[in-house]
Amino acid sequence: MLEFEAALAQVLAAVPLPTSEHVSLSEAAGRVLADQIRSPIDLPVFDNSAMDGYGLRAADTASAKSNAPMRLRLAGRIAAGESFAGEVAAGTCVRLFTGSPLPPGADAVVMQEETRLEPTAPAEVLILSPTVPGENVRSRGGDVKRGSTLSDAGELLTAGRLGLLAAVGLTGVSVGRQPVVGLLATGSELQEPGQPLAPGRIYESNRLALAVLMARAGAVPQTFPLVVDDLAATRLALADACAQCDAIVTTGGVSVGEMDFIKCAFEQVGGELEFWKVAIKPGRPFVFGRCQGKLLFGLPGNPVSALVTFLLLVRPALLRWQGAANISLPVLPGVLAEPLVNDGGRRHFMRVRVDSAGKVYSAGVQASHALSSVAAANGLMDVPANTMFTAGTAVSVLRWD
Ligand code: AMP
Ligand code: MG
Repeated sequence: MLEFEAALAQVLAAVPLPTSEHVSLSEAAGRVLADQIRSPIDLPVFDNSAMDGYGLRAADTASAKSNAPMRLRLAGRIAAGESFAGEVAAGTCVRLFTGSPLPPGADAVVMQEETRLEPTAPAEVLILSPTVPGENVRSRGGDVKRGSTLSDAGELLTAGRLGLLAAVGLTGVSVGRQPVVGLLATGSELQEPGQPLAPGRIYESNRLALAVLMARAGAVPQTFPLVVDDLAATRLALADACAQCDAIVTTGGVSVGEMDFIKCAFEQVGGELEFWKVAIKPGRPFVFGRCQGKLLFGLPGNPVSALVTFLLLVRPALLRWQGAANISLPVLPGVLAEPLVNDGGRRHFMRVRVDSAGKVYSAGVQASHALSSVAAANGLMDVPANTMFTAGTAVSVLRWD
């Protein structure tokens, strides 16, 4: 039986090198940047005012006081979006607004609240306090210098990063191509929702939950019809998915029972099994194989096992496929609010709920069929075999929601 780290290393080694495609910025959210991006321009693009106020020469305001204001001649007005031909001479100022270009000659902006206008002298502005060069000025290149790195290859395109790329005038980016992943659920007991359950049947739930996790990992899920527990049917379904997709994720049919057909069917369609047991709970049966450059991830059928093994062993592969630099679930510190016990002989990835204060609770029944624990959970805790953590223990939580 493979240790988890060895299994993950073997999966990642089989993932093809990322290839890229060009997409518009509006389609790039959540995608992985393929190339480093340098800024073609400075940000701010030009020196501009951070305030509604008056552009002037700071030296002119040195002796300004509220009881002895400095009088400057109002030489013009520049709204945001306008430009100014003249120069601000000594003893003058120009009306500016937030984002107005700072005119030549001016080196500071006095905010409106530090000034006064007198109805009797409309061409004059009274400056009530001294200012220094650079005050309330957003300098050209102060945020981003032309040629500097905006984003590196492998980074995820978040709203903030996309905003920055738009601000420097880019309209598109090169991103990692997304693997299309066939999603199959096996089990003769499974029924599509929408009909009353026949005796002995259960509603199928893995494909929906896994499709969500896949899409969040940037892959494109392609859901296939339910597969009954039959060797020929499984073979057909695998061959079909293999022909259409870059990878296949199946659930169920990977245990040792005589109704578990995934391994055998996969080999019969030309696949090679790399491993089918990982020393973790949930997920001891977990099949990984390759077939003509396509990858097979055979997840256990139990819904908890399927989701947890997906997060631990499939999600990293899908992210690596797109060239992502960071493929691990985020690890956050927390403190156990109650004891957490793994009394089994296998490393257990237990479902936990972390609240906003970092307090960690068990997400409920830890059995691998218990979907309520997945619904309540937002994290996993890696608990070694035969271990009891007492309340108050500082722990690390793998966040997944
Ligand atoms: P298996 O791995 O095929 O032995 O299935 C293990 C358990 O998970 C059985 O109780 C199945 O009924 C259940 N199960 C398998 N696949 C699904 C599914 N897609 N949705 C919900 N339950 C499932
Ligand atoms: Mg089954």
